[in-house]
Amino acid sequence: MIRRPSESAVDYYKKNPPACIANFLAAPTWLEGIAFDGHGYSGIAPDNLVENPQTIFKITCKCCHKYFRMIAKAGIKGFVFFDNRIIAQEYSIRCCKCDAEQVFFSRLKHGYHIEVFHPMDEPGDDGIDNDFDREIEEIAPIECQCFACDHREFEIYARFEYSNSLFQNSYFSGRQQEYFTWFSGLGKCRKCSTMNLLIDFECD
Ligand SMILES: [Zn+2]
Ligand SMILES: [Zn+2]
Repeated sequence: MIRRPSESAVDYYKKNPPACIANFLAAPTWLEGIAFDGHGYSGIAPDNLVENPQTIFKITCKCCHKYFRMIAKAGIKGFVFFDNRIIAQEYSIRCCKCDAEQVFFSRLKHGYHIEVFHPMDEPGDDGIDNDFDREIEEIAPIECQCFACDHREFEIYARFEYSNSLFQNSYFSGRQQEYFTWFSGLGKCRKCSTMNLLIDFECD
């Protein structure tokens, strides 16, 4: 029997989007019928007991436009292409109306593992930013395309999954939203409406 995550945890995450999407307007929403890779099954209940809390936000530019292009940046190891996805180190999204481009998700800056092992409270001191910035200059970014029609403009959704233990440990208090253990970035094609799973990473 799978138990639902506590209402209060889900409620908290809906009201507190993580810092990586702070440069956008983020409205909590829900999507049906998406098969996330998370934890090998359907993204739910890895321990078969309690479903992990998760939130999905629909992303809108601060200029109020809802379509973006998604740009993948490689980092030190280059790109890997897997299961229709571009595996990169960092992804930014660029508004199709005002052209503002901002980081959407970085494997080197966001999520549980980074928060615990490389907290960014001393920017620049750990060298992560500098090394990464230098590397990505040498490899040309790639714009993500719709799997079905190759179009490059998407409605963007961000999905965050959390472990159930974050509200039982005062270490995480008030910042639980930054300790997501899975991140997914989805793009709904502006042209053909296909929902593309563009980004899918375990972050712990
Ligand atoms: Zn804009
Ligand atoms: Zn399409």
